[in-house]
Amino acid sequence: MLHTLISRTLRSWAASSTSTRPFSSDFKKSYKKAGGDPYGSTKRFPDLHHRVTAELAGAKIQPSWWFNESGTNDTSIGEHITHIMGKFKCSNKTCQKPGWGSKKIAIQIRKFKKHGYDALVFNQRCKECKSLGVMKITEDSYVERLSYRLKKWSGIKVERPVYEEKKGPEHESHLCEGCRAGRCMERKDDELD
Ligand SMILES: [Zn+2]
Ligand SMILES: [Zn+2]
Repeated sequence: MLHTLISRTLRSWAASSTSTRPFSSDFKKSYKKAGGDPYGSTKRFPDLHHRVTAELAGAKIQPSWWFNESGTNDTSIGEHITHIMGKFKCSNKTCQKPGWGSKKIAIQIRKFKKHGYDALVFNQRCKECKSLGVMKITEDSYVERLSYRLKKWSGIKVERPVYEEKKGPEHESHLCEGCRAGRCMERKDDELD
């Protein structure tokens, strides 16, 4: 409870500052457009919909998939949990921890009526100070997972893609918002309180 409060305070402090921005203004803009908080527990990436669509073009799916900007767990009619890759920086500017990478960023792909979909990408917390991270996903891994899943949901036979097997750092459930929400394949219950 206390660290939630602290991280909220740090988050609003970080968001209101204009001096040292951890990422480019384009990055910030795309979050604003998504209606998301860059330091929240989850993020959605509607700006990548056109890339997912481009991947699906050859499959000629009818009707085509559309990104549901107002979807919720209650209105979704199906989901698939997997992970993507990316990097994080601590949102707490007084924290000394350098950024960290993850090959196991939890993502919940949700299905809605009439070929609607969205995807929630779960944030991770800093090992040092437990503040939420500022996420920068590997867009290719997102597009690949999404297009694979939407083809499967469309009834198209797809070969399971071969993912890079290189091991990333150990997944720590207590630092993963996906694990906390019960939406991560890597969840280890004994690490959560
Ligand atoms: Zn930190
Ligand atoms: Zn996790």
